[in-house]
Amino acid sequence: MSLNVDNCPRCGKVYVKNNYGLCGSCIRNIENEYELCLKYLRENKSCQLYELSEATGVSVKQITKFIKEGRISIKSNPNMFYQCEICHEPIRSHTMCESCRQKLAKDTSNLHEDEQRRQALLQQSNPLSYNIKDRLRDRHR
Ligand SMILES: [Zn+2]
Ligand SMILES: [Zn+2]
Repeated sequence: MSLNVDNCPRCGKVYVKNNYGLCGSCIRNIENEYELCLKYLRENKSCQLYELSEATGVSVKQITKFIKEGRISIKSNPNMFYQCEICHEPIRSHTMCESCRQKLAKDTSNLHEDEQRRQALLQQSNPLSYNIKDRLRDRHR
């Protein structure tokens, strides 16, 4: 049986794998950070992401994670935005802004079409060569 351990992606220490994907001390740290954020937000409903980060010392990345996980509600904090992963526009839902999501959807469908075209070409040229190889192999047996 192999040991179910890994390096914690947050602090780099070896830990026993768990559902959180983090070591025990990081989980505790994150809970502390979460509490700090909640406390600050309770008193400063109109604060912004960077303000919250500065006031609590919690990284913008971590706060964004809380928001995406639904742990920090964006609805009750009207000025809370985070950045689109691609163009860094302020957004309040999803991981990317509307225009980037549309662009990406288009790119993926283009990619898909290219791939389909490539597969079709392969199928047109391949069956014959396969058959010949198979036949040759059979003859040598
Ligand atoms: Zn850790
Ligand atoms: Zn964007």
